[in-house]
Amino acid sequence: MEGFFKHGRGFPSFKNRSNFRSFQYKPGDVKLDGNKIYLPSIGWMRFYNSRPIPQGFQIRTVTLRKKADGWYTSILIKDDSVPDYPTPKEVNTIVGLDMGLTKLVHCSDGSDFDNPRPSTSKKEKRTLKIRQRRLSRKNIGSANRKFEAQKLARLHKKHADKRSAYQWFVANKIVNKADAISVEDLNIKGMKAKCKPKPDDVKQGRFLKNGQSAKRGLNRSISDASWGTLIEKIQYAAAKSGKSFFKVDPKNTSRTCSKCGVVDALSRFGEKFVCTSCGHEAHADKQAAGNIKTRAVQQNGLVIKKLKKVRRDSVKPKQLILFETPTVESTTGKRKQHRARNSFPRCAWEPANSIEFMGY
Ligand SMILES: [Zn+2]
Repeated sequence: MEGFFKHGRGFPSFKNRSNFRSFQYKPGDVKLDGNKIYLPSIGWMRFYNSRPIPQGFQIRTVTLRKKADGWYTSILIKDDSVPDYPTPKEVNTIVGLDMGLTKLVHCSDGSDFDNPRPSTSKKEKRTLKIRQRRLSRKNIGSANRKFEAQKLARLHKKHADKRSAYQWFVANKIVNKADAISVEDLNIKGMKAKCKPKPDDVKQGRFLKNGQSAKRGLNRSISDASWGTLIEKIQYAAAKSGKSFFKVDPKNTSRTCSKCGVVDALSRFGEKFVCTSCGHEAHADKQAAGNIKTRAVQQNGLVIKKLKKVRRDSVKPKQLILFETPTVESTTGKRKQHRARNSFPRCAWEPANSIEFMGY
């Protein structure tokens, strides 16, 4: 409404059912019993219970969401007796992470993670193109078009599921590396910003090429890598196992020399980093990861305790456990997701940690 009257945007439209993809139940409305869920005004129905609710937790708000291949429910759970874990100033180990496209993550310890490009790999791009073309050739409003649109939506869902599963895998691996994790505070929206339009001075009302079409591909790769959600998952996994998590200013992390601290854009040649003032040579992204690590240490006044060397066959130090979960798969976070399938749910795995989805 406001957009129409004040800013002259479009005429306000009525809301219809397709405007909504989810709805919520208030705390206390929903009941759970094994693989059955009670939804007020719908009744008891079967669903796939991907994870049990940890002991001592209460069910809060329950959200039901319609996705391309069925209905999902996410259950917010809460336990007031869980203490807030203070961020320690002393850590044994800290790892810095640099996000990228050729490799998804470079760690300051020298390891890296591949970027699987779930929706921008050559094969997936081709499949997407075919599905989109098939859709656009169907008659508008026809049942065929609806069917084709569903197929396309399921493909997008598949990409999203693959991405999320891989991100959980990476996040857990990273969190197991060190006591503290440091990442860049990226401005992804700014990175994906469109190029400014260049008006043509000769022909009025026309525009010159501004490089946007070339940038579009890069933007798609950035969206596909989805660093933001990966960082969220790392933060979540870190909180779950009682580890510290820091975000640092990303400015010049790939241009600063980790040896002498000189900032120079000329030090970097693609993947290689050669310092223009001291001649220090390193892999550009690993170097950046190292800078992110040192930045977190400086900004937060961390003390890195000297570790005694531990032999590989010796007993592992005990990990901090915040609270117990009844099964192997721990769900110490505050949110849980369950999955129900269509109106008559069948079993399948649920997003948070899962990988496989059932075919149609
Ligand atoms: Zn240097």
